[in-house]
Amino acid sequence: MRASFSKGHGGMSLRTVAWLLYSVFLPVVASAQEKPDSELLLFINQIKAVDHHTHALPAPNPAAKVVSSVDPLGTSPPFFSVRQRETNPEWIAAWRALYSYPHQDASTEHVREAISAKQRLIQEKGKEYPAWILDQVGIEFALINAPALGLGQTEPRFRLVPYADGFLFPFPMADFRGNPPQLRRAEVGLDKAPPPWEEYLALVSSRLRQWKAKGAVAVKFTIAYYRPLEFAPAAEGDAKKIYDRYFQDDATQPRDYRTVDYKTLQNFLFRHVVREAGRNGLAVHVHTGEGGGPFFGVAGSNPLLLDSVLNDVALAQTTFVLVHGGPPFDRALSALIQKPNVYADVSAQTFFHSRHDLSETLRLWLWAFPEKVLFGTDAFTMTPLRGWEEMTWLATKTGREALALALTQMIAAGDITRARAEEIARMVMRDNSIRLYKLAL
Ligand SMILES: [Zn+2]
Repeated sequence: MRASFSKGHGGMSLRTVAWLLYSVFLPVVASAQEKPDSELLLFINQIKAVDHHTHALPAPNPAAKVVSSVDPLGTSPPFFSVRQRETNPEWIAAWRALYSYPHQDASTEHVREAISAKQRLIQEKGKEYPAWILDQVGIEFALINAPALGLGQTEPRFRLVPYADGFLFPFPMADFRGNPPQLRRAEVGLDKAPPPWEEYLALVSSRLRQWKAKGAVAVKFTIAYYRPLEFAPAAEGDAKKIYDRYFQDDATQPRDYRTVDYKTLQNFLFRHVVREAGRNGLAVHVHTGEGGGPFFGVAGSNPLLLDSVLNDVALAQTTFVLVHGGPPFDRALSALIQKPNVYADVSAQTFFHSRHDLSETLRLWLWAFPEKVLFGTDAFTMTPLRGWEEMTWLATKTGREALALALTQMIAAGDITRARAEEIARMVMRDNSIRLYKLAL
């Protein structure tokens, strides 16, 4: 999940009042209602995790000048959930844990101290900074969803998951609101008009092989941001006819991909990319469920729309991960992860949903298919003090607590033993991902 962020300056007094209210009342209410078993939580907190989906950034270039921000905490657009907003008191806890921030509030003056402390650490740790952050939150491996790994993001701890969306946009895109960034095409090797059909299909395969050779473990589709996830079966002959017509007409001409013909072409290409990824040993990650921003088509992000793709025997060699676990359709997802090659991760639910809500989703999934559920954060940078580091800390804490809560309730209900709970906890936090991607230090 990614979302654009508009900067501004919030009223500090309102913010302070909001914090006071949250910090005084929220913990009392939460602990009075439900609590994970403390020993089980302690056990889960000590598991070295795999973050299955993150947008963690590389270490900043040491030669780059540090730009000081007037308002490093920033203010949020209305579509940011409560936990993402600058009023969330958990950011303070994150700074305390990561940067030894000594204060209990986020006054303007203290926030400046927090950003200075963070910048000092960035300078001091240099290229070790990304790994150092992972160490602080107990993450051993992180799957980075980005065009490439950067400074300090080295294997084996950091593994690449590049974007594959560009393959579905062979022709230059007409410009309208909600377009995928042009960068998506460049990432797959399309910086201008595409080659003829056969060469194009070959380009897909060779790009996937290159990524695999560079250490990628999967490719990621964010395509639900641009069209519904229903990729109906399409005959190659039909797709080729459309492609050839566009190609002969004018391959450089920008096209509106929302037409029926372009969709048919995409339907074929999606399955082609998915099949080739499987052949080349790359898993396919698909964004499922709600997305960032006020214009995201939620209905089209329903993972059940992928049913015919997941049932396609020609694609049985490909492993799919339904990234974010498809909220608000996450209950329906248990019907998909029963398929042998389909997994789900909890990334984004670990900050977008409450510990309670995530524990309910987990309880449903884990009761039936504990070997198919993967921990993840979807951490990304919103502002200098609500960055991938703070989001990693926050989402990891929620993920561990929600898992502890779900397993505590499953033990109490007689679904599983305590020993099995510990086993499932290790599976979700690390073992399932390690097995899936053959991760090793
Ligand atoms: Zn993401």
